[in-house]
Amino acid sequence: MYDYLIVGAGLFGSVFAYEANKLGKKCLVIDKRDHIGGNVYTENVEGIHVHKYGAHIFHTNNKQIWDYINQFAEFNRYTNSPVANYKGEIYNLPFNMNTFNKLWNVITPEQAKQKIEEQRKAANIAKPTNLEEQAISLVGTDIYEKLIKGYTEKQWGRPATELPAFIIKRLPVRFTYDNNYFNDKYQGIPIGGYTAIIEKMLSDIDVRLNVDFFQEKETFEALADKVIFTGMIDQYYDYQFGVLDYRSLHFETRVVDNTDNFQGSAVVNYTDSETPYTRIIEHKHFEFGKQDKTIITEEYPKEWKPGLEPYYPINDEKNNTTYKKYKALAEKETDVIFGGRLATYKYYDMHQVIGEALSVVRNELLT
Ligand code: FAD
Repeated sequence: MYDYLIVGAGLFGSVFAYEANKLGKKCLVIDKRDHIGGNVYTENVEGIHVHKYGAHIFHTNNKQIWDYINQFAEFNRYTNSPVANYKGEIYNLPFNMNTFNKLWNVITPEQAKQKIEEQRKAANIAKPTNLEEQAISLVGTDIYEKLIKGYTEKQWGRPATELPAFIIKRLPVRFTYDNNYFNDKYQGIPIGGYTAIIEKMLSDIDVRLNVDFFQEKETFEALADKVIFTGMIDQYYDYQFGVLDYRSLHFETRVVDNTDNFQGSAVVNYTDSETPYTRIIEHKHFEFGKQDKTIITEEYPKEWKPGLEPYYPINDEKNNTTYKKYKALAEKETDVIFGGRLATYKYYDMHQVIGEALSVVRNELLT
C-alpha cells in the first residue's frame, strides 16, 4: 500500500514525490506518457539535449527555489536573449535600445521614447477595444506591425482586431542596451538536461509509465491512501461543467546535416504572418554545444481539441468561470490534492510549479 499515488511525472508530481519520500512516505508515480518529466522532458539526441515540448529556460527571482533546483543539477550561464526575424530583418528582443536603433536609427533613450510617444499620439486611441489597439496604444505602430502583429495572430489563430485587449496588459519596453529577456536574478539551463533532474528526484520512487489513470481509476485509487493529481481537472470530473479550452502546439524537429550552426541563437521568433511557425529553437545553443550537427525545432501554434496536447490555458471569462466550478469540487475532496498547470488551469513557469509543489508539501506533510 502506498501513502500517495501521484498522477503525472512532471515537475509538480516529481517534486512532491521527492519530498514525500524524504519524509518517509511511500509513493507511486504514474504517467500516461512513455517518459518522465512532463513538459520539461529533454531527450539526448547526438549529445544535444532536445527540449521536446518547447524551449525551457529556468529563471527565478527566488533564491530558495534557485537553491532548491540546484541540488539536482548544475546550471550553465545561458541568458535568454532571443531575436526576432521579420521578413529577414533581425531585431533584438525584448524591445530595447538595440531594437529601437535597428528600427529607427535612434541612439539615445530620449530619442527612442520620443519616437514611441509620437506614434502613440498619432494613433490617438483613447480606449483600446481589441488587442491591436491595445498594443499600438502601448508601443506605437512600428513595433506593433513588425514585432507583435504577425506573431500574436499566429499564436492565437485569429486577427489581432478580433482578439480581446486584455491579452496584452503590459508590453515591457527597456530603454537600455540590454537583450536579457528576463529580469530575474537567476537563470540558466541545467547541464545534462532537465530529464536528469527528474531522474534524480524519482530515483528512489516507484514509477510506472504508459498508464492512464482514467483507464484504471479504481485500481489505482485502491493502491494508495491519497492521490496527488496533476492531470486535467475537467477530465477528472468527467467534463460535467464543460471542457476547459487550451491552445495547442505542433513541433517539427530535425537534424540539420549541412551545417553545425543553423541560426546562431537558441531562439528565433518569426514575427511576420507569412512564416507559418512562430519560433525556431536550435537546441545546442542552450548549452553552447560544439557538436558537428545541429538540431532545430519549428514551433507551430495549433487549435486545441480534446485528445491533443493541451499547452496554454485560455483564461478568458468563460473558461475561468468553468474552472471555478471544478475548483469548488476539488476543494471538497479529502483524499485528492490537485496541483500543477493542468489541475489548476494556470500557466505556470517551472519555478512557480516548484513553489506550488513545495507549498503543498508544507501543508500536507509538515503542519
Ligand atoms: P506537466 O509537465 O504537464 O506534467 C503533468 C504530467 O501528467 C504529464 O507528464 C502528463 O502526461 C501526466 N498526466 C496527465 N494526465 C494523466 C493521466 N490521466 N494519467 C497519467 N498521467 C497523466 N517554464 C519556464 O519556467 N521556462 C520556460 O522557458 C518555459 N517554457 C515553456 C514553453 C512551452 C511551450 C510550454 C508549454 C511551457 C513552458 N514552461 C516554461 C512551463 C513548464 O513547462 C511548466 O511549468 C511545467 O512543465 C509544469 O509542470 P507540471 O508538472 O505542472 O505539468
